[in-house]
Amino acid sequence: MASRRTDEIEDLAQRVRSGDRRAISRAISWIEDQTPAGRKLLDRLYSPRPRSHRVGITGPPGSGKSTIVSELTRLLRARGEQVGILAVDPSSPFTGGAILGDRIRMQSHQGDPGVFIRSMASRGSLGGLATATYEASEALEAAGCSRILFETVGVGQSELEIIEAADTTVLVLVPESGDGVQVMKAGLMEAGDIFVINKSDREGGDRLHKEISLMIEMGRERRGAVAAPSSAGLGLPRDRGLARGVSETAWERRICRTVALRGEGMDDLLASIEAHRDQIQSDAAVWSARQEQRLDSRLRTQLRDRILHGLWKAGHLEEWIGDGLGRIRRGEISPYGLVDELVRRLLPEDRPAGIEAGKGGDR
Ligand code: GDP
Repeated sequence: MASRRTDEIEDLAQRVRSGDRRAISRAISWIEDQTPAGRKLLDRLYSPRPRSHRVGITGPPGSGKSTIVSELTRLLRARGEQVGILAVDPSSPFTGGAILGDRIRMQSHQGDPGVFIRSMASRGSLGGLATATYEASEALEAAGCSRILFETVGVGQSELEIIEAADTTVLVLVPESGDGVQVMKAGLMEAGDIFVINKSDREGGDRLHKEISLMIEMGRERRGAVAAPSSAGLGLPRDRGLARGVSETAWERRICRTVALRGEGMDDLLASIEAHRDQIQSDAAVWSARQEQRLDSRLRTQLRDRILHGLWKAGHLEEWIGDGLGRIRRGEISPYGLVDELVRRLLPEDRPAGIEAGKGGDR
């Protein structure tokens, strides 16, 4: 793509700030595609003081996340808030998950100029979806969305992507989840600020309530010491992650019961979401430490992604991998040997300790 002229980028930034929907859509595409223009745009849209509250809604497929997002949006709109919805779908573009998600949600808030809905799908293997999601939310923030709802659409990694980008994480479960609570990814249960038992019109809600309460009780001491999930999944030195752990220990996690289909319990859920935001913002020192931690984490992620992209491209690694697979198949080299060889091409100093250098020690 030809490089964008500065005035074109400035013009788009202005239109995003004025809330122009087509401009927002275009901006998010630039951001998603990780173009240099997208980065320049983000540079212009960046605000040192976050103004939006980012809420992640996650949980198993079919638990009612879409319905909940739609109901919350209805309540927020009734208060005159502008709402941005980012549906995060890490599944391959072939599943069509993102498209389906859009179609369902579009029905209830279609045509409402105060609601912006967009799907974020994982396009490539490099660079985290969490980063793209957060960056897209910066465009929505600049456009005046006071509330940004992240919703998982696909299964798999998306919960972690959302948790990483959100201030408040809502974990949606259903009575049928019962036994599933124990086997749920530990990090996911730890990361929930608010638990929702949706479909409370069904049997089994009490049991699930007990299980979650017990889990909250057990996790009380551990909370805040949770290792962050890796967004890029590339095994590189992990940034400090989740921007969590600073204030969460003070938050008493809540359980809300809802029947989203009938809009029941939604006021209570929204009140809990507000309470969490108020709590994390209530102590100025804690709040600024949290922001600092997030900034640190995002800087590391950005730097890591950029360096990785640059090296990957400059080293023509895609071609080398293709060639290397053939060599491994023909028995000419082992995968370990190949990786060593490729890394040495990129980083000549990265010699295995004590072998190539012919001596012991670190290098
Ligand atoms: P998602 O996959 O988590 O986004 O779930 P959806 O919001 O698409 O909901 C899945 C199904 O559950 C839909 O058919 C909803 O109408 C239904 N559903 C949502 N909330 C409730 C509820 O509170 N009670 C019942 N019985 N069904 C619900």
